[in-house]
Amino acid sequence: MEAASSVMSSAVPARIKERDTDSASRNFEIPNIIAEPVRLAGIIEDSIVDGPGMRFVIFVQGCPHYCKGCHNADAQDFNGGFNADIYKIADKIIKSRAKRLTFSGGEPFCQPRELAKIAQLVEAEAHGIEIITYTGYLYEELLEKAGTDAGIKDLLTVTNYLVDGKFEQDKKSLDWFYRGSSNQRIFDVTCYPNSSKARLIERREDLR
Ligand code: SF4
Repeated sequence: MEAASSVMSSAVPARIKERDTDSASRNFEIPNIIAEPVRLAGIIEDSIVDGPGMRFVIFVQGCPHYCKGCHNADAQDFNGGFNADIYKIADKIIKSRAKRLTFSGGEPFCQPRELAKIAQLVEAEAHGIEIITYTGYLYEELLEKAGTDAGIKDLLTVTNYLVDGKFEQDKKSLDWFYRGSSNQRIFDVTCYPNSSKARLIERREDLR
């Protein structure tokens, strides 16, 4: 998976001075409220390597797969990265007018509920956004997990294209479009959950 090239940091709490009727000043601390957190490694607003077209990319923090040769090893530690608010992230995507969104990592399916909610908030405002989700899990594993984990089912539901499988260094390929190693597959999962029979994408031009 691609390395994060830009990392957001939490905003410093704003400090507002307000004059009361006696002209004495009072200070109010405005806390940096995170209503619903998602743990991120970074975001890129204009990537051209994480799927077709210009894409808004969210890199989540934390990954249990520990692939040898991982391109984004800094995103593996579940205690690394920073907390962001899902409503603010959704707002940022909407304001960017992005029509294509990629969830990468780290492992997106370790925070599926949060990412699905971001996607739902964006879709409510900017209809028809196309979503690619990268994962180190296999599609078949996710289908099984989705049977007992509503968050995983939700993230599969909002995803159009799923790029699955761990990065395998001995299968590394520079020709394998939008993937790092030749074992990784791309599925069109737009049919999910109406059907689990995803379409395997074998040519770059089959990605809309
Ligand atoms: S799935 Fe593998 S390559 Fe991707 S972030 Fe996790 S350890 Fe790195």
